[in-house]
Amino acid sequence: MSPRPAPPDVDRAAAARAAIAARRARAAIKHDIATRTRTALDAAQRGWDAPDSAEAGLRVTELLSSVPTLGPTRTAKVMTKLGISDKKRVGGLGVRQRHKLADFLIARQGREPSKLVVLAGPTAVGKGSVSAHIREHHPEVQLSVSATTRKPRPGEIDGVHYYFVSDAEFDRMIEDGELLEWAVVHNSYRYGTPRPPIDEALAAGKRVLLEIDLQGARSVRRVMPEARLIFLLPPSWEELVRRLTGRGTENVEEQQRRLATARTELAAQDEFDAKVVNREVGQAAAEVVELMDAPIGAPTSR
Ligand code: 5GP
Repeated sequence: MSPRPAPPDVDRAAAARAAIAARRARAAIKHDIATRTRTALDAAQRGWDAPDSAEAGLRVTELLSSVPTLGPTRTAKVMTKLGISDKKRVGGLGVRQRHKLADFLIARQGREPSKLVVLAGPTAVGKGSVSAHIREHHPEVQLSVSATTRKPRPGEIDGVHYYFVSDAEFDRMIEDGELLEWAVVHNSYRYGTPRPPIDEALAAGKRVLLEIDLQGARSVRRVMPEARLIFLLPPSWEELVRRLTGRGTENVEEQQRRLATARTELAAQDEFDAKVVNREVGQAAAEVVELMDAPIGAPTSR
């Protein structure tokens, strides 16, 4: 009878087995991408969501060269263009590199319209009116209902316009991972997008619309790079000021604060996949819904 292996050998054997399993898992991912069973974007996202996954351990070069029609030469060029080194693994990419890679893969995929659309834009541009119009005229589109710590305005209904929650409840939602994104808006209250209803709607093949602020849009892009981001623009800055002051729901100090936010927000419009000018609510709503079905890179209203 041979002597029992010493613990270090056992560890080594277990480690070797784990390494083989990881290699096999990575090979299976590459195979699935090469046979179009799965997209490279999907694999990358899984790697970003789960740092211990086989996807996270895949080298970016392996991921890209598995994409049908990319091949090693074009992969090398793409890696240089994206500024990603050969050794980098999917899970080891920084936020900027993740964005670049996701944008590249989305642009390549191009043809599949995203089912998740984010409508953002400066304060008082009329995002609320556009989404209310979509709620009324396009029941096939599911509008996400955000949670907020601010108090309801007259006419706002809990569960329809927002879930109005306490600070403690908002803390709990963050802790339990119930929010897809959240942000402090206008330096005052917290707003967040509940994730479970969105996952359910997307799984059922529905189109989902999120009407959130710029920070939220950026967060969604980070966690769901396939989401399509639409920026709603005012016809002019003067019109935006008129809309904000005309609304009469905020005091002067609050109006000034929101205008300052709006100025910075307008500067971010080029980060978005598409722009829609809100000249007339019905028209803008129709354009947003149309964009939900258009291929990425389709012309926008600007
Ligand atoms: P209001 O208080 O006027 O309803 O909304 C203020 C801002 O909060 C708007 O710009 C709106 O788009 C944004 N907002 C509403 N819900 C969310 C959300 O779930 N997440 C984020 N990040 N912003 C939101």
